[in-house]
Amino acid sequence: MATTPQWRELYHEVVQTNLCTGCAACIMACPRNVLDYRVADYHPVQIGEGMGTDECFHGDRGCDICTRACPRFRAWESELDTALFGRERTVDEVSGMDRSRLLVRARDTEVFNAGQDGGLVSAMLIWGLETGRIDGVVTSKLTEGRPFDAEPALVTDREGVIATAGSRYTYAANPLAMREADEQRLKQVALVGMSCQASINGSVLARNVAKYQRKIALTLGLLCSKTFTYDGQAEVFASHGIDIADVTKVNIKGRVMVWHGEDGYDELPLKEFHPHTRPGCKQCPDFAAEHADISTGGIGKSNDWTLTIVRTARGEEWLQGVIDAGLVDVRPAEEDEVAMNLLERLSTVSRKRWPVDAVPEGDRRPALLPVVSA
Ligand SMILES: Cc1cc2nc3c(=O)[nH]c(=O)nc-3n(C[C@H](O)[C@H](O)[C@H](O)COP(=O)(O)OP(=O)(O)OC[C@H]3O[C@@H](n4cnc5c(N)ncnc54)[C@H](O)[C@@H]3O)c2cc1C
Repeated sequence: MATTPQWRELYHEVVQTNLCTGCAACIMACPRNVLDYRVADYHPVQIGEGMGTDECFHGDRGCDICTRACPRFRAWESELDTALFGRERTVDEVSGMDRSRLLVRARDTEVFNAGQDGGLVSAMLIWGLETGRIDGVVTSKLTEGRPFDAEPALVTDREGVIATAGSRYTYAANPLAMREADEQRLKQVALVGMSCQASINGSVLARNVAKYQRKIALTLGLLCSKTFTYDGQAEVFASHGIDIADVTKVNIKGRVMVWHGEDGYDELPLKEFHPHTRPGCKQCPDFAAEHADISTGGIGKSNDWTLTIVRTARGEEWLQGVIDAGLVDVRPAEEDEVAMNLLERLSTVSRKRWPVDAVPEGDRRPALLPVVSA
């Protein structure tokens, strides 16, 4: 008789095979609080004496919530697709399924200036908080004492959203901030996160992780090819005479744009950062945050607009809310052909990373993995 998969299976099939992105969904969902986050390798570990082993601290009692929350466990993609969209994506839908693609920009100057691209994410979060749709946001903030590094953060008001806007290119396991949301007994939160974290939107729904299925009111995904290690990023900056402590903003558009000091600005070759790719990103096949309610990015000609991919009904309803409130300007994404082409190309590149062999045979879905010529 097949046994219910639990930590042992998650450990061997996802953590040890490095399919684990470090998103921390398992830690967020664990009802017994026996998992913790090891920052050194971004992996979940058993707490206490069980640290680093495949044995759940509570024994094999059949609790399977860590495997259910994991957005990389077994046939995750088809399960999440089906739960969110009622069907699996086709091979051609390489950037996932969507209802519309738009370019969006915040009208509020403070929000727009704080935002990484068009400030849509921040505009939407502020609107959600101020209209009572959510009472908190699980996102990331700059780390105190480690210049231009990121860590998970819970914010609950406009000031918090503005202070945490913008992109950092190291990894913050945003779902860890759910602990604080739970402690504060927040009822409805928005989850912001890179593609891997945005997939939690589908895993809690597909596998009935009821608490977070109810609690996550909206998931805003960030398009993402990879993150970098903190030391590696600092090393490349230093090799160009830039002290990471002086960096005020970074944006990546085929090259790494770095603003630093009073009015310093440099463009660095992206290829110099590739050797410092964080290990958890190397097998991630999802560039386009395909399971978010709304996915956002900054590719294409329009640097100061957020490329906005609306995927679910509730994403559509939220976006319509900010449009009706007069908070954003909107135009069709198809106006930016470069962005549309890049979306497909970068999604295809990421798909090639998924190691089909790492998935148990019965759960493989090779037919839906695109065949891409080199
Ligand atoms: C690591 C990373 C890689 C990315 N790669 C691409 C890419 O290759 N192509 C592309 O088009 N877009 C990419 N993006 C998305 C892009 O940078 C913007 O986040 C997106 O366009 C939304 O812009 P905005 O102005 O609407 O967001 P904002 O209003 O600025 O809001 C951004 C939100 O992202 C959160 N955030 C910032 N850094 C992190 C982090 N490290 N971890 C988790 N949350 C974070 C902030 O706290 C904030 O809530 C990436 C983002 C990140 C964080």
